[in-house]
Amino acid sequence: MNIYKYCPSCGTPLKTATIENRTRKTCPSCSWIHYENPLPVALAYTVNQSGKLLVVRRAHPPAYNAWALPGGFIESGETPQEGCLRELREETSLNGRIDRLIGAYHRESEMYGSLLAVAYKVIVSEETLQINHELYEADFYPFEEIPRITIPLHQKVIHDARDHESQKSEENIPSFPVRSGRIT
Ligand SMILES: [Zn+2]
Repeated sequence: MNIYKYCPSCGTPLKTATIENRTRKTCPSCSWIHYENPLPVALAYTVNQSGKLLVVRRAHPPAYNAWALPGGFIESGETPQEGCLRELREETSLNGRIDRLIGAYHRESEMYGSLLAVAYKVIVSEETLQINHELYEADFYPFEEIPRITIPLHQKVIHDARDHESQKSEENIPSFPVRSGRIT
């Protein structure tokens, strides 16, 4: 995404140059350089007390009408955790708490360019929710019944979260008989 034609600092038409091994736009007058960075996004993999997953149906592009995890852009001055919980609260009125980091991901978005997505597992104790204008619907689903999610990043987050949960449950089951007493 190359949005600048003129220097946002002094208004001079920008030139293209190779700087630090990348093609970047730069200002021949004041040396301003357009460093392009990914936009930070937080995603909330949200479960309720009975372990059901919150899935929302989006009412705005990108991914219009698609089933998704709640989330959005992190604001300046906000931690990723705060951004994650704020987006959840704005979209669904639910107050959650961060359980753990699921992962950090890079994706190319047609609409926004490079994205850096940080996904957290969030736990909520409330069951009733109220959606805002960004969504058509939102509800908690048992895993066998969640609507089909087609956004590759959200699929990946759900996969990684589930993978971690299943490893955790395997750790709790000893794979060999545990003997008590002193081993000699
Ligand atoms: Zn300039």
